[in-house]
Order: sequence, then C-alpha cells, then structure tokens
Amino acid sequence: MSNKNLKGISTIVLHTASHENDNFSHTTPIYATSTFTFGSAEEGMERFKGDDKTKLYSRWGNPTFTAAEQTIEALEARGLKNEDGSDLKLKALLHASGQAAMSTLFFSNLSAGDTLISHYSLYGGSQELMQKVLIEAGVKIMLIDIHDESLLLQTLKENPSTKLIHLETPANPTLQCVDIEAICKIAHAHGAKVSVDNTVATPYLQQPFALGADFVFHSATKFLNGHGSALHGVLLGKDLAFMHSKVWKWHVLLGGNSNAFDAYLLIQGMKTLELRMEKHCSNAEKVAHFLQKHPAIEKVNYTGLSSHPHHEIAKKQMRQHAPLISFELKGGIESGKKFINAVEICTRAVSLGTVDTLVSHPASMTHMSIPKLEREKYGITDGLIRMSVGIENIEDLYTDLEQALAKALA
Ligand SMILES: *Cc1c(COP(=O)(O)O)cnc(C)c1O
Repeated sequence: MSNKNLKGISTIVLHTASHENDNFSHTTPIYATSTFTFGSAEEGMERFKGDDKTKLYSRWGNPTFTAAEQTIEALEARGLKNEDGSDLKLKALLHASGQAAMSTLFFSNLSAGDTLISHYSLYGGSQELMQKVLIEAGVKIMLIDIHDESLLLQTLKENPSTKLIHLETPANPTLQCVDIEAICKIAHAHGAKVSVDNTVATPYLQQPFALGADFVFHSATKFLNGHGSALHGVLLGKDLAFMHSKVWKWHVLLGGNSNAFDAYLLIQGMKTLELRMEKHCSNAEKVAHFLQKHPAIEKVNYTGLSSHPHHEIAKKQMRQHAPLISFELKGGIESGKKFINAVEICTRAVSLGTVDTLVSHPASMTHMSIPKLEREKYGITDGLIRMSVGIENIEDLYTDLEQALAKALA
C-alpha cells in the first residue's frame, strides 16, 4: 500500500506496509520459511505466471522482506513526482548486507569492457569491491577527484564506455560531499547512470532521486536499522521495468537475499527513524561545536561547520547535517589510542548509525593496513577519531569527551 501518499517520515514508516495478515498480528509477521505451498497444480502455475514473485521461494522474495522494501520505497520517494506530474514509484530490493546490494548494483549495470567512474574517500568495502572484484570481471575503474568538473568531462570523453557513476555523499570519515544534481546532469548527457550511496544521510536528510539519481543504495545496517542488530542492504531504482527484469534476475541469481528475522529487525528499527535522526543530528551539532572549541583538537570535520570544504554542497542537498564527525587530536597516533582507551560512555567500535555513540581510530583500526602516505591523501591522519554521534543525553557526552580528551594529551 505504498500509494497512500503519506507526507511525514514517521507516518510512512508506521503505515506503509500492510497490517493485514491471516492471524491479525499487529506487527509484521516473521515469515521464517524457505518455500511457500500451493493448494493445487493450477494455483502453482498461476503464481509462477504472475508478477508477484514473493510467495514462491524466499530467495525470490518473502512477505517480511516486502514490508521492509515498501517502507524504504515510500521513504525515498516521499513527495517526489515524475516529469508528467504523477507520483514517483520506486522498486527496492532488500539484501543480506550492503555489500550484497552493491554487488547486485554493479553486476546488473556493468559488464566486461564497461567503465565505472567514482571518487576518492569511498567506504572501504565499496572501493575494494571495485578494485578487487569488478576489475577481475573486466570492468575499468576510474577513481577521480570528482569535484574537478573538467577532469570528469575529460574522463567521460576518454571512456565512452562509462555506464555508471557511483557517488557516496557524505562519505566517511572526512565527510566529503559530492553535488549529486550537477553530476547527474553531466552523467546523463553522456549516457551514464548515477547511483548514490545514501547510507550516512538516510532519506531523512537527503533524497537523491529528487536530484536526478537513477539508483539509491543503503547499508541499512546503519541508521535505517539504527540499533546495530543486523546487517542489511537495499538497492532502489526508478526504472521499474529494469528493476523487475535485469536487476531482480541478478539479485536472485547472485543469492544475496535477506532473511525474515533481519527484515523484521529492520522494520522495527525504521519505526523510529525520524525521532532518532532528529536527536542524532542535534547532538552531533552540539558535539561538533564543543570539539571545535577544545584546545586538544587540531581540526573538526563536520559538514555543519562553515570551515568544512563542502559545507555549501551539504546545505544545498541535505535538510540538516549528517550526525557523523571526525576530529584530529593534537599529538598524533599515541593520543588517538589514548583517547579511544579513555572513553567511558562512547562505545569503542567500527560501524555507524547506532543509537549509542561509536568511536573509532582509523589509523590503528580500519585503515591500519593502508600506508600512512596514502591514507593521509584521503585525510586519514594519525590522530583522526571518527565519531558516529548517538542519542545519549548531551551533558553525559560532554562529560565523557572532556575527561577522555584530558587523558589523550596527558
Ligand atoms: C557499512 C557501509 C557499506 C557496506 O555495508 P554492509 O552492510 O557492511 O555490507 C557501504 N557503504 C557505506 C557508506 C557504509 O557505511
């Protein structure tokens, strides 16, 4: 029932998926089943012939997945129209992880001889999927400084086989942003499609389809789930025929399907997306200003600060600033480690988008294997701390940061 035309995020997440089921369950039932039964040979034949492939075999679809997919479709399409004035309709496919959804995105759009253009400072798994897997399949990968328009135009000219431009905005851990609308115009003029990783912004902050994107990707593991209780990935597209044919075929044959338990956790998590994001965002703004004034800190990366190089792009395409911050401690790698060891409320963990604040130290954790000179090119310096700001009481966060920063420089 994604045609209810609901306006508010909380109304959408609470009322898009059907509440109807045989046993009057209020919450979406967990259909923990691999297969679905037929009453007769004729009924089986009818279901196989029909467009709805969600009640045949769970790799092809499952009613619990459908409820999550319809909710995300409605979130990303919220208030958007097609050129003819009709409501924008999207198709979402739920996957086992972000990486699985990204594999479907890349393999259904690119084959040997094609070129994929993307940019620096991508999520590590995305970059590795490009440079370690897609490359082996014969796809040419061009990672460029996509803010340089003449370089992008030249790259497109030299690579007429470009089928896809993949953007991640804002991107981890330095919160680099890319102008989605400007890149979509250039891509479409050159016959290429654009996919946007909307994991960090979520549809609460940013709707890439409003800016011309052809596909939107989420690691729903992060803010959409919100509680760090499962992995999920979602791929959405607006070319419904393409989504239902080629993309669906690759999804089903690559086998990166979700499962009913995780889909249920995602549905439950999304019910508070709006409430959580409001608090995440307001806490992040306060924490960023607190850190910026602190003498132990060299630099704060947060798109809400006018000092951030992409502050204007972020303001143009996001309704608020994303609740992800990174900051550079004076004192390099040792103070980074000391800070991480000193926190008492913030959780020491990688990942992002959970209700609690997560802190990590890329130089000694996620980016340890990348040579110092190379990671510094992407802004990952020795003293950089990444922080996914949670929904805790702000005074408690200040107290924890104050004491951990004092120990970091001691
Ligand atoms: C986590 C993440 C991914 C990968 O998703 P998984 O759910 O871990 O497979 C991709 N992009 C971004 C921006 C992420 O944060």
